[in-house]
Amino acid sequence: MLTPPDTTSPDQSLQRSWDVVIIGAGPAGAVSAYQLARLGKKVLLVDKASFPRDKVCGSCLSARTLGYLTEAGLGHVVSELGAQPIGNLHLRTAGGASTIAFPIGFAVSRQSLDQAIVEKAQSVGALFLPSTTALVGALAGSTRTVILETAGVYTAVQSACVLVCDGVNGRALNELSSEEKDRFKPTVSANSRIGSGAVVSLPDNEAGLYYRPGTIYMALDKNGYVGIVCMENNKIDLAGAFEPAYTRMHGSTRAAAAKILRDAGLPFLHVFETAEWLGTAPYTRHRETLAAERLFIVGDAASYGEPFTGEGIGWAVKSALLAVPLVERALAGWDNSLVGEWQRIHKTMVANRQRLSLTLGGWLRHEFSITTLVRLLRIAPILAGPFVNAINRCSPDFADKQGKRKQTFKLSMASKVGQPK
Ligand SMILES: Cc1cc2nc3c(=O)[nH]c(=O)nc-3n(C[C@H](O)[C@H](O)[C@H](O)COP(=O)(O)OP(=O)(O)OC[C@H]3O[C@@H](n4cnc5c(N)ncnc54)[C@H](O)[C@@H]3O)c2cc1C
Repeated sequence: MLTPPDTTSPDQSLQRSWDVVIIGAGPAGAVSAYQLARLGKKVLLVDKASFPRDKVCGSCLSARTLGYLTEAGLGHVVSELGAQPIGNLHLRTAGGASTIAFPIGFAVSRQSLDQAIVEKAQSVGALFLPSTTALVGALAGSTRTVILETAGVYTAVQSACVLVCDGVNGRALNELSSEEKDRFKPTVSANSRIGSGAVVSLPDNEAGLYYRPGTIYMALDKNGYVGIVCMENNKIDLAGAFEPAYTRMHGSTRAAAAKILRDAGLPFLHVFETAEWLGTAPYTRHRETLAAERLFIVGDAASYGEPFTGEGIGWAVKSALLAVPLVERALAGWDNSLVGEWQRIHKTMVANRQRLSLTLGGWLRHEFSITTLVRLLRIAPILAGPFVNAINRCSPDFADKQGKRKQTFKLSMASKVGQPK
């Protein structure tokens, strides 16, 4: 069991008792914080990173993701950030290229999006501590202990409920007793790829020169894929998924990304050479156990599939929306049935929806499938319709479950998106 080396905080004003401590301020954690603080709960949100921060992500928001953000009362944030509308998907392999209409939504940097949601949570009363690593501790009567570490100083706080939203790289549960820790151990898929990427800013005279706003450029190879998209303020996002062995062979994910892009005939911009590259652990994973007394696991930390379909932010927001009513009930009085309930809800409403991405991800590991996909789409782009619909459709059962009006989202898609080169 974790014993903090020091329980004095440099900030003596930090309250030690909370309704909810939320670990991780990505979409899952920040949306949960916003929802719970709006309900009048005393919420502490912590993130180990100093904010605003970048995150390995393709930074594309589908209509479905926008739907969940709107459901959370945060839909307006995306347009306020100057997100770029997306209209096309340009697929390239070493053997050819195809472009399809792909009206999936918007591209916006995670630095801006996550910061904006955190600010919304703060505006309704949540306290946010960046640069603070949290570790979940043991139950202490009707609370859980959470150990916070900021610049080498440890503080113990108590919380009636803890949300673990620490993503695929998270280790917030690592200091639990060995019995509890074993229950939460994630199962990582043996053939999982790793994610990596970078965000760069282009000067005005280079913006749109190589990669044009409105198009997702995707280079496909059996060893991985790399997506590039223009975001707000001349920022460009590069994110890729790579076979770990391929990355080792090339010495780094940056070199692997450069090879995949160049083989597919797309430029690897000089600014990517010097950019800061971030990475993920093998990301295809799930946990059998997603809750315990006064503890819920939400977002990527619960399960993650494959990035290709660009749905992870949506899954994270959705799982936050689904978890909040359970947290409210937990705060009214803990009931062990909440554990099974969260696992059932998560499996039906989130984990099962990750299967499309896993199927597609498996398919894209073969040269033949990649080449066939690109050729078929060149001949008959209409074939992409069911795929585009699948990732865009707002799930009506989710709206029903929330007892709210079914929503249809009409994307204000830019009609004048640039054509890929
Ligand atoms: C290559 C790639 C491309 C992707 N492209 C897209 C895309 O285009 N569209 C899309 O919707 N999704 C995409 N995703 C998925 C998306 O990035 C994730 O699904 C989403 O970020 C999950 O949100 P989250 O809140 O669960 O976790 P995260 O966003 O990972 O947030 C977790 C947070 O927890 C913090 N943290 C971790 N440990 C601790 C700790 N102990 N204490 C305090 N803080 C901690 C981290 O600093 C981080 O800020 C992509 C993923 C990859 C790998």
